[in-house]
Amino acid sequence: MTRHDLASLRALYGQPLFDLLAHARETYRAHWPAHEVQLCTLMSIKTGGCSEDCAYCSQSAHYQTGLERESLAPLARVLETAERARANGSTRFCMGAAWRGVTEHDPKFRSVLETVRAVARLGMEVCVTLGELTPEAARQLRAAGVTAYNHNLDTSPEFYPRIVTTHTFEDRLATIRAVQASGMSVCCGGIIGMGETELDRLRLLEVLCGLDPAPESVPINCLMPMPGTPLDGQPPVEIFQLVRLIATTRLALPKARVRLSAGRTRLTREGQALCFFAGANSIFYGDKLLTAANPGVDADRSLLEELGLGITKAEPLAVAGDFDKEARHLHL
Ligand code: SF4
Repeated sequence: MTRHDLASLRALYGQPLFDLLAHARETYRAHWPAHEVQLCTLMSIKTGGCSEDCAYCSQSAHYQTGLERESLAPLARVLETAERARANGSTRFCMGAAWRGVTEHDPKFRSVLETVRAVARLGMEVCVTLGELTPEAARQLRAAGVTAYNHNLDTSPEFYPRIVTTHTFEDRLATIRAVQASGMSVCCGGIIGMGETELDRLRLLEVLCGLDPAPESVPINCLMPMPGTPLDGQPPVEIFQLVRLIATTRLALPKARVRLSAGRTRLTREGQALCFFAGANSIFYGDKLLTAANPGVDADRSLLEELGLGITKAEPLAVAGDFDKEARHLHL
């Protein structure tokens, strides 16, 4: 695979739109089944009260967003949600917690491990997003059955300090390195529409292209402005800019799942169709995406049906027992 730098990404991104789309579609068809979209479900397992000051986030304790805080969800509730998600066609279940991060010594981390082991037995891909991780915590998550760890870089390194001041871009990269070393795959993308330039978006993509191994999954979120946060009132992302970014991501990271994530309620059906054509092949499914609105399940089903897109079926996955065996082998 060619490793793209900023100059080559700019050249791809700046092509006439139809050339870019044709090229992205061809690349997509070479690596993925033509007419499939993966459904993922994201559950907030701990909501609000976060120490960090991410300017887009309603869960930050720095802003008065009126969000109700919830402590760590009990195992039974998570399992019930995961089982429902599987029954509705999701093949990936992601659990997100609003805090800066975890270490292997935190009691809350022990609870998360227990939850992960139970969810992993359901046979879905298990993803978690828990903020910063130590290498040891990453190893333990992998041993418990996590297949992917989500840790977005959000935006370019240059724009990042305008969005977050309580941790750094380098802190994010350190967690990604810990995840890579553990053997979990990396789910890493960003958010557009926060006031960054198109060049910032390509710089983020350049950093993603430099990760080794490349991210297995790249969520592309459009900002959902949250009342009370500094980014409330930001205008919607221009649709052709989003489509160009998705197509460029497909070309630069052909084997990555490109996830059309937050912000779909601000896109038209035609806009979403173009995003799929450009190479997006996963959506989050369900009425809520953490604290933001998401299109309803019925609306998504009808859109996919009208486009002739099927749903990715679950592949037989290693279950927790296999991870445990592997973990023993690796002396984790
Ligand atoms: S994005 Fe995550 S780390 Fe940042 S404030 Fe929200 S919950 Fe906290």
